[in-house]
Amino acid sequence: MDKKRLEISDLGEFGLIDRIATNFDLKNRSSIKGIGDDAAVIDVGDDYLLVSTDVLVEGIHFDLAYTPLHHLGYKAVSVNVSDIAAMNGKTEQITVSIALSNRFSVDAVDALYEGIKAACDSFTVDLVGGDTTSSRAGLMISITAIGRIKKDKVAYRSGAKPNDIICVTGDLGGSFLGLQILEREKEVYLSNPEMQPEIEKYEYMVGRLLKTEARTDIVSDLADAGVVPTAMIDISDGLASELFHISKASNVGIHIFEDKIPIDHQTYDAAIEFKLDPITCALNGGEDYELLFTIAQADYEKLKNHADIHMIGYTNDKPTEKIMVSKQGTVVPLRAQGWNHFNG
Ligand code: ADP
Ligand code: MG
Repeated sequence: MDKKRLEISDLGEFGLIDRIATNFDLKNRSSIKGIGDDAAVIDVGDDYLLVSTDVLVEGIHFDLAYTPLHHLGYKAVSVNVSDIAAMNGKTEQITVSIALSNRFSVDAVDALYEGIKAACDSFTVDLVGGDTTSSRAGLMISITAIGRIKKDKVAYRSGAKPNDIICVTGDLGGSFLGLQILEREKEVYLSNPEMQPEIEKYEYMVGRLLKTEARTDIVSDLADAGVVPTAMIDISDGLASELFHISKASNVGIHIFEDKIPIDHQTYDAAIEFKLDPITCALNGGEDYELLFTIAQADYEKLKNHADIHMIGYTNDKPTEKIMVSKQGTVVPLRAQGWNHFNG
């Protein structure tokens, strides 16, 4: 009998990861947290070691038509440092593996590593190894970050309790608009190479996409304030998707307020220009690399005056309830769209 082939897109990225995870249990006592958080957690004595890997693939995650290689190198490090930050940890080492086609020159590799070096300097991280190989077409970069955290300070996705305060850093949706702008300019350029790209006006959003900065400053600020988040995740796929991860891992409901979601006015204006809803861009646009975390009510006073931490709502004891109260006061169910590389 013909059995319909199960497509990867039928499962989606998260379904696929869940399917892989069910076949692997942890055998070593030192493996504290395996698949399912921003980084793996390994017991190495006094501290926990944190390990996270991300792969960036040309044509999927970046387009070299508008991504300078040094920015790409910086970003590849930054997104891994961000995953370690999302555990409340500090990245200490990275390994970098690249696969290159003969389309790339030594100058191109130099430019990529200039960015990797700038990120290593900026985040005080050591490059300690990697691998170099060839590819049939295109560039692939895989980075593994190794970090450290005191055992009682680690923040999982799973620690939120009902009535915790939901906090988000920085502002959201900018990277998604940056991508729309660069894609539009690329189309204009392809149809008429004489046209000069018009991106100065959109520098903020384009910068949000190309010059990703992991929020290691927030991790320090939290430590200075004496706050350990009850749960934390970095915002790579969009606020809504990350809220769903916290809800599922912590078994709590989510109640946020539209008017509390931080959106920069330039992002807002660009969204309107592109006939997009700014809130949808903030909820479902990817690659902001801000931090989303929950804190106990008792810690409210310690963070309420922080200029770049925004309290957007609270958790509740109804795990199936994930809602946003709109500016008009209506209740809108949240939907997690996120990025799905396997859909079309
Ligand atoms: P993030 O967006 O924070 O980088 P991902 O959604 O990529 O996290 O991954 C979620 C979890 O699944 C992580 O714990 C990651 O290590 C794990 N994971 C992802 N892909 C695989 C895989 N192919 N094999 C094993 N674990 C994986
Ligand atoms: Mg993450």
